[in-house]
This record gives sequence, structure tokens and C-alpha cells, in this order.
Amino acid sequence: MKTPFNKPYLSGRETFYIEDAVKRGKISGNGVYTQKCQKFFEDKYGFSKCLLTTSCTAALEMAAILVEIEPGDEVIMPSYTFVSTANAFILRGAKIVFADSRSDHPNIDENSLESLITARTKAIVVVHYAGVACHMEPIMALAKQHDLFVIEDAAQAIDSYYTFADGTKKALGSIGHLAAFSFHETKNIISGEGGMLAVNDEQFAKRAEIIWEKGTNRSSFFRGEVDKYGWIDIGSSFLPSEIVAAFLWAQLENLEDIQRKRRAIWEAYHQQLASWALANGIKLPQIPNYATNNGHMFYLICKSLEQRTAVINHLKAHGILAVFHYLSLHKSLFYNERHDGRSLVNSDHFTDVLVRLPLYYELAVEEVIRVLREFKKP
Ligand SMILES: *Cc1c(COP(=O)(O)O)cnc(C)c1O
Repeated sequence: MKTPFNKPYLSGRETFYIEDAVKRGKISGNGVYTQKCQKFFEDKYGFSKCLLTTSCTAALEMAAILVEIEPGDEVIMPSYTFVSTANAFILRGAKIVFADSRSDHPNIDENSLESLITARTKAIVVVHYAGVACHMEPIMALAKQHDLFVIEDAAQAIDSYYTFADGTKKALGSIGHLAAFSFHETKNIISGEGGMLAVNDEQFAKRAEIIWEKGTNRSSFFRGEVDKYGWIDIGSSFLPSEIVAAFLWAQLENLEDIQRKRRAIWEAYHQQLASWALANGIKLPQIPNYATNNGHMFYLICKSLEQRTAVINHLKAHGILAVFHYLSLHKSLFYNERHDGRSLVNSDHFTDVLVRLPLYYELAVEEVIRVLREFKKP
């Protein structure tokens, strides 16, 4: 492939900071770089407390422990998402109640949620697909009314915002009780593998740190708050090493530049493909008024599975790799038998017709646009 689907961005300072971390002689977790990164996110986006994790998957697992999911508890989430969104709660014995996507966007349909709530419901997990906000205001209101926790799977949603009806603008990941971000190499800001838990509800702050450090109060110990540390809760090794945090720091220094570039590529696709898409019955992503675009992903909504296959093959023939995305989780081999049988038509539709175009810092976007415009409906 001349044009891969993704190419990790490097600022050039990654190995410099890694070398510095090594020279400092402390390369396990929660050192200087971990704290610099966490403070950066807290200051820039208004998260109350951030903890770097080894992945977004790990951050979601922490969230499931923090909201005290017990066997039989129900958790509502979209079917059109990554496996980890659900798996983190399955590990604690939850029953997943899958919701459908909106008809105009892969995000969870906020209007479908109320009818899914039962006496066993404990949490709603929203996924900000492509970094575009779910409709958080009605979702938070519903959660409050039914005393539920809201967890944001913000894996794709760094540097994106939601605007409330009164004009208040809040960063995605700062609205729910807890939020999980990913720094996997396919995301906007990367550290190879990596992630972060944002804790917005004060009641979770202390326990989050303990779960993060294998169930010990080691963080308090290092701050001098207690004179010895021990085992006080469940937990795991959720924190990344300083080497990972040092890599991430080099990315954060360039966050504005990365974001400007990614948004420009997204805009080029959006503007220059508009009439071609219309002529072929293909839909382009729309950003609702309450959301912003963080340039994470550009996708096409094809007319049919056949048309999507034809688009993918056309690009492939020109050395360009475009890829489809999630397969509805309620139909997965693992969950099919556990699902309650409701059909989720929009989730299944996006499974069949959505295709993602290459989007990375060094992409020659004009070339992809030129090749796509040669595609005529089959
Ligand atoms: C990437 C992604 C994840 C998983 O992130 P990791 O850091 O690889 O664990 C989870 N949920 C969504 C929506 C994602 O896009």
C-alpha cells in the first residue's frame, strides 16, 4: 500500500524525553513525566483528576471497579463500539444492555435509553464516536433522574467539546462521572499503547488512586500522607511506566499542531468530496450543533454493503487502504446468545456501510480525494 490507513505521528522529541526518563533513574510509573502529562490534561480540559493507564481498556476496567459493578447489574451502552467498552463491565459480571445508534450518527441514540432502564441498571456508557459528542445534556439528566453513573468512553475524543443549551462548553471526558481515553497508535495523541482515566466525581478520587496502584495506598505514602503502605482494596497494575509517559509528553507538546493538521485534512475531505458523495448517494459525516470536530476520523456512509466493498476495492487498486469499522457487539459470537433479541437496525446499518478513509498527519489528502472522485457508482 502506498497510502496506509494510519501512520503514527512522531514529534521527534519522543526518544529525547525517554532518554531523560531513563537518566533520571526512575522508570516505573507515577514519576515526573506521568505527573506532567496528568497535570497537562487536568489544566487544559478541566478534568478534576487524571490517572495515566496502560490503555483505554485498563481505564474502562478501573471505571467498572469504581462504580462497583456487581454480578447481575445492568450497564447500557451502544452496540456499535469497540469490544473493550463492554468487556470491562463483563469482567465484573455485568449484563450488557445494548442500545441502538442514532440514525444519522453511530453515537448512542439518547432517545432510546429511558426504555432500557430497569431496577438493575447501574450505569450508562457513552462512546463519542469519531470524537463527536453524544448528546450529553439529556443523557446526564436521565442518569440523574434514575441515579445512574455515566462513563464516557472518550477513547477517540481528546480535544473535543460539548455545548450545553445554556452555552456552557465542556471538554468531552469532563462531563460524566468517569471517562476513559486512549493513546493507542491509531488515535490522535499516542504512546504506542496507553490511556487515561479522568475522574470527575470527587467520591471516586481517592479510591481510583488505590485501584491504580494494585490495591495499595502507595500514592499517599509517596506524598507522605501515611507512614507505611499496604494492601487496602482490590486493584491491578493499571499505571504505565515513565517511558510511556515520556513518549506521551513529546506528543502533548505538539497537541495544537497535530490537531490543526488533522482538522485541516478532515475539512479537505468534507469540502472536496461533497458533490461527489451526493452524486453517488454517499453521506459524509455531520457534526451536530452541540458538538465539535477533533479530526479523529473521516468516514463515508455508503448506500449499501456492495457499494462500500466497491469503494474499498477501488481505493485498494490505487494503493490506498480504507477500512470498515465495528461489527455490532450484540451479534458477536461472544454476546449473541446473551442478547435479549431486540434488533438494533442503525448499529447493523453502520456495521455494513461505514468506511473510514486514511487520516494521519503526513497524509497527502489531495491524492485520496482525486482517486475517490474517479469512483463511479457501480
Ligand atoms: C481505541 C478504542 C478503545 C480501546 O483503546 P485501547 O487504548 O487500545 O485499550 C476503546 N474504545 C473505543 C471507542 C476505542 O476507539
